[in-house]
Amino acid sequence: MPGENGPPAFSDAFTSARLAMVETQLRGRGIRDERVLAAMARVPRHRFVSAERASAAYEDHPVGIGEGQTISQPFMVASMVEAAEIQPADVVLEVGTGSGYQAAVLAELAAEVFTIERVPTLGASAQRLLAHLGYANIVVAIGDGSEGLRQYAPYSAIIVAAATPSIPQELVEELRENGRLVIPVGDAEEQELQVVRKLSAGPRVENRYACKFVPLIGRFGFSRS
Ligand code: SAM
Repeated sequence: MPGENGPPAFSDAFTSARLAMVETQLRGRGIRDERVLAAMARVPRHRFVSAERASAAYEDHPVGIGEGQTISQPFMVASMVEAAEIQPADVVLEVGTGSGYQAAVLAELAAEVFTIERVPTLGASAQRLLAHLGYANIVVAIGDGSEGLRQYAPYSAIIVAAATPSIPQELVEELRENGRLVIPVGDAEEQELQVVRKLSAGPRVENRYACKFVPLIGRFGFSRS
């Protein structure tokens, strides 16, 4: 966890773009959790896209990362992480590593982050970059995250960064009691961001807002892209 207890990483040329992103796109649109805002002010988002796309990294939209995939819009990352209510001792699972950016944001806030990616080349390059940036509390796995990642469960929170047709029961099972699952549920065109809280009486599902993600492809996701 390079950021939280050390000096902020504010020394690169992209700093002003990153701080403007935090103020206008995140705080200005209602993200209130100061820990989430501070984490996103620290993580060098431009390092998670190709050099040709670095100048677009802090813009208000997703950016292509190859293999037909994207790094999610900054507001969407902040909103999902805030909804997951991450605490410092939490063990978190992210489904859909992509570039590794959201895993880095989570690693600033939680004790341990496990992240699983279906596309091996993306998982491998995210793992290399995260290690290079000094994130020692992230494990990258390759596989079908629609089935969860049972060997490290239970998790305090699970964030799914791709669209699912329904809530995979396996993911709910891998949550601790009072754990939170943040997941876009719907068809391939549009989804509703849902927050599932695992209570002793059973899961409680809350709808947040409409969103659009690339599909989660796998056993409990969509069958193809
Ligand atoms: N969180 C990522 C980031 O910060 O860059 C962005 C995630 S991108 C919107 C969605 C990712 O989910 C893609 O990289 C895609 O390959 C991955 N994915 C799709 N189906 C998956 C599955 N069944 N298991 C794991 N990853 C999957």
